Amino acid sequence: MEKAEIGLIGLGTMGSNLALNIAEKGHRIAVYNRTPSRTDDFVAKAGDLAGRVVPCESLADLAAAIRPPRPIIIMVLAGSPVDEQIAALRGELAANDIIIDAGNANFRDTMRRFRELEGSGLTFIGMGVSGGEEGARHGPSIMVGGKEESWHRVESVLTAISAKFKGEPCAAWLGPDGAGHFVKTIHNGIEYADMQMIAEIYGILRDGLGMAPKEIGAVFAEWNKGRLNSYLIEITAEVLKADDARTGQPVVDIILDRAGQKGTGKWSAIEAQQLGIPATAIEAAVAARVLSSLRDERLAAEKIYGGGVAPITAPRETLLKQLELALFAGKIAAYAQGFAVMAGASKEFGWNLPMPTIAKIWRAGCIIRSQMLDTMAEAFGSGAASTNLLMAPDFVKLMQEAHPALRRVVALATEAGAPVPALSSALAYFDSYRQGRGTSNLIQAQRDFFGAHGFERIDEAGAFHGPWGQG
Ligand code: NDP
Repeated sequence: MEKAEIGLIGLGTMGSNLALNIAEKGHRIAVYNRTPSRTDDFVAKAGDLAGRVVPCESLADLAAAIRPPRPIIIMVLAGSPVDEQIAALRGELAANDIIIDAGNANFRDTMRRFRELEGSGLTFIGMGVSGGEEGARHGPSIMVGGKEESWHRVESVLTAISAKFKGEPCAAWLGPDGAGHFVKTIHNGIEYADMQMIAEIYGILRDGLGMAPKEIGAVFAEWNKGRLNSYLIEITAEVLKADDARTGQPVVDIILDRAGQKGTGKWSAIEAQQLGIPATAIEAAVAARVLSSLRDERLAAEKIYGGGVAPITAPRETLLKQLELALFAGKIAAYAQGFAVMAGASKEFGWNLPMPTIAKIWRAGCIIRSQMLDTMAEAFGSGAASTNLLMAPDFVKLMQEAHPALRRVVALATEAGAPVPALSSALAYFDSYRQGRGTSNLIQAQRDFFGAHGFERIDEAGAFHGPWGQG
């Protein structure tokens, strides 16, 4: 039988769609899944593409079905399942074969796997994939980490299956070892912030203005035609329009207000803290998901404190414009934070991450794709955003126009009792960032007072102590 060009392990949501995408682009692919019935289902549903799929019952079969040197994509649950698959594959593979972990790995695990495979003769790639089910099937954004020569060995298939923005593939090599998975993690961190800010605006419209889901959906659909144009705004509008078949109610009204998480948002916040880079909007979004999961506690607290949001009586048309601009400003701050965290990691790990390329490969295929990313790609490409996105002239102009609305919206929401943790954190970041003289002079003094840590003066270099306790 004709050998396959590539293999794939894990025919879940992502793996099965990625495999069909690869087959559709003309590549013969061998597939294996731990639970064999899933492989059978996959082949049964592959339709015309089944002819390019080689189903395998074991890893030995999989290795035998692929022409060496074999590229094999692992798309299973992140964590120990990946280690188990790599361990099992090692016995079946030969020098120069390429193992590609395409799941949402923690980049520290990816770095460890690179170390563990060093000297084995096998090539390893840590690859972030974004775009969900639809993206995997028709064109995801692909963030590759590993040796550049390894990337070149799989570049043609990865660029073929990736999304395209004006003809440019949204797949790129971003740096050695954990670089691809780190960038994917921060992509997800930004996604958390973006989703949370959208949910906060929804909360203001629902609770402060008393609007129904379909009305709110129409507002988001309108915003999607303008500066907020993005996949997340588009799907939010769609979600808000949909009715539940069982009750006839808007679906969003019958869904519990409790969101799960798998780890990438938390890792983004942890890594930001480790690197000493402020990522307040991302951290707030992660905390908001955790708070959402404390439903019983929230219900009990509501009985004591009352949970209502006071009506917001500002003129609706004006307020809608402010909400649109506020979301835009919050989003810019969240992206600025995400890119700053990547710049910090790039320095820390010596990755030399290409920020313009990252912005470019996020313009299509991935969950955070938006019109704004094209402007960001230009800002990073010209070097204008090298300190911080907020310093790039195009974004200075946008923020100058939008931040008063963010301020107004945070004030109105706070007054009304509507929680806006990500929007207010984004605003606080912006306000702190633009303050030439902040308030940490007092913190220096406090630290010196209780711990003799010393402080710096504005008029002389060196460390000084205060006259504490003298009067
Ligand atoms: P699914 O839950 O749909 O599928 C999980 C797959 O992992 C199945 O093929 C399952 O096999 C396999 N698996 C689980 N545990 C083991 C194990 N111990 N040994 C071997 N195989 C195992 O997951 P997804 O496709 O959604 O996710 C796969 C990866 O892609 C994850 O890392 C995820 O974070 C990432 N990802 C997911 C996205 C999404 O939108 N869903 C987007 C981007 C990345 P079996 O059938 O035998 O259970």
